[in-house]
Amino acid sequence: MATTFVSDRNLNFLLHEVFDLASLAEHPLYREHGRRSFDMIIDATLKLAKEICLPTLREMDEQPPVLTEGRVEVHAAVRRFMRECGDGGWIAAGFPHALDGEQLPQMLTCTCRYIFAAANYSLSVYPFLTAGAARLIANFGGAMLRKTYLPPMLSGRWQGTMALTEPQAGSSLADIVTEAVPMDAAATKAGSPYRIRGKKIFISAGDHDGVDNVVHLLLAKIAGAPAGVKGISLFVVPKLRPQSDGTLIPNDVAVSQIYHKLGYRGCPITELEFGQRDDCHGTLVGAPHRGLFYMFQMMNEARIEVGAGAAAIAQAAYGAALNYARLRPQGRALGAKDPDQPPLPIIQHADVKRMLLFQKAFVEGSLALVLQCARYMDLEAISTGVEKEKYALLLDLLTPVAKTYPSEMGILSTSQAIQCFGGYGYCEDFPVAQYYRDVRIHPIHEGTTGIQGLDLLGRKLVRHNGRALGYLLAEIQATIASARNTAGLTAHADALATSLDQLDAVLAHLTVVAQSDGPDAYLADATVFLEFFGIITIAWQWLLQAVPAAAAEGTARTASDRRFYAGKRHACDFFFKYELPKATALATTLLHPARPTLETHARHF
Ligand SMILES: Cc1cc2nc3c(=O)[nH]c(=O)nc-3n(C[C@H](O)[C@H](O)[C@H](O)COP(=O)(O)OP(=O)(O)OC[C@H]3O[C@@H](n4cnc5c(N)ncnc54)[C@H](O)[C@@H]3O)c2cc1C
Repeated sequence: MATTFVSDRNLNFLLHEVFDLASLAEHPLYREHGRRSFDMIIDATLKLAKEICLPTLREMDEQPPVLTEGRVEVHAAVRRFMRECGDGGWIAAGFPHALDGEQLPQMLTCTCRYIFAAANYSLSVYPFLTAGAARLIANFGGAMLRKTYLPPMLSGRWQGTMALTEPQAGSSLADIVTEAVPMDAAATKAGSPYRIRGKKIFISAGDHDGVDNVVHLLLAKIAGAPAGVKGISLFVVPKLRPQSDGTLIPNDVAVSQIYHKLGYRGCPITELEFGQRDDCHGTLVGAPHRGLFYMFQMMNEARIEVGAGAAAIAQAAYGAALNYARLRPQGRALGAKDPDQPPLPIIQHADVKRMLLFQKAFVEGSLALVLQCARYMDLEAISTGVEKEKYALLLDLLTPVAKTYPSEMGILSTSQAIQCFGGYGYCEDFPVAQYYRDVRIHPIHEGTTGIQGLDLLGRKLVRHNGRALGYLLAEIQATIASARNTAGLTAHADALATSLDQLDAVLAHLTVVAQSDGPDAYLADATVFLEFFGIITIAWQWLLQAVPAAAAEGTARTASDRRFYAGKRHACDFFFKYELPKATALATTLLHPARPTLETHARHF
């Protein structure tokens, strides 16, 4: 079934022909599933996306949540979608059978999220934020927390949130001041009750009437805790406190405002006051002062989802631009000036094809990277020992890239979608203006692009003696080797190998900079490095797709398959001609000795 907000043919290609999803079912963890059930789940997801998400995309943008007498009212679709995602198993999709989950591979759950996000990003956030919060309780909470919170969260009746940010602590969580005071000074272990006091801002889905309760996974500092990140603990703080008889009573959590946003308007972003009447109870999750470590599990998962969300919105914008370009007649071929000739559909102009190829190369390259990360999660889950460590390190290294490349490039891609529409793109007649506004959040939330750059260069590449990079290079070299054996891909294989040499030269240079001039100089261009590294990573993902596409093109049985594989070849050629060479320019910048960003003083502006 052809759809325009996602390409189901491309999903099929990536899941089955590139990443061999069905092979996971050979492992006992996933033995209840197989190709047939995976495909049925994708079909059901597409159906629900078309039934609830797509029809409300525009309405939810035009009728954002309102705060009335302390209550946040959201579009009626939220309650319906949360219940469908609960009853249909989408929230519990990645949870083990022991917790009433579906025990599905992450590659599949990630694809479901991608489909919902492409149909309506705002709506897709509610259930998957809940799944992330529930997973924290499942992994680190005790039996009581699991019993109380998981059933209503996984069934979509209660919303989950991540409550980290405070007015003075955005990127720097070390500076949070929300306090947790033990109710019984002698009981400070996991599961102990605490009194919570503080303010959190920008909390997505932090309160709303689409659910019966909201459960905050909240970071706070226990009185007397060590300073900085080593003193942060994690708490479960409900809006309504469950009592032993099953009733719920208010827990002194108040919404002081909701923010009015550029895009992503269907989901409320709230400012929350905890404990104004000194009656807000929270339950400690895991050990005291280990909160950030636990929360990183949710944040890393959320970072991959942010990348998927950005690619999904850009995919929907690309689908709209493609439809429009096929239908909009304008101008004639450069050599045919006869005004009596009918105008051409704009898709026939080379520059419009350039804009469409840019979007295709970005969207399909980004989705491949996101699924590659999900595959590493799955492989980590089913392996042991050194193999397990390998996949964990690969995922760790690629997380900032999978978060940032789709987010930053998604803005450019949706901008190109607007450009394909000309003046209509700038108006609200078509959805591309909304997509452009919706996608803009992604380089900001779940750690800004600047923070992701510092994470990649300052932590992920250097930790564990650089083993993560060694594993990644081995993966890329394996793809280069198979591309060298594939007709038509040798030049691309050589180009990617040259980029790896540039990466090597840049890292050698930065190592010297770190040793001679310290961390400030080493990390001054971390964001530029992230962009450089991201382009090389996506080139690898394109080569990874081009190898099976080249093999299948010659033997494809249907004309539509032949067109699909030829489309892959052209998009790969596009990426290697137009995008990969940008890495060379970025390498030049990274190797350049001038340091204007370090040497410019605040007074120079
Ligand atoms: C729509 C939306 C939804 C959100 N949802 C949630 C949520 O559900 N839960 C939650 O807890 N938070 C949420 N947030 C908060 C979000 O995670 C923060 O806005 C983000 O982490 C940045 O923090 P900040 O806004 O305080 O910016 P700041 O930290 O003040 O950063 C401002 C700029 O300075 C840069 N910068 C900051 N520190 C450094 C540094 N050390 N080195 C280099 N550059 C630096 C940043 O990259 C950025 O460009 C949401 C925000 C928005 C807008």
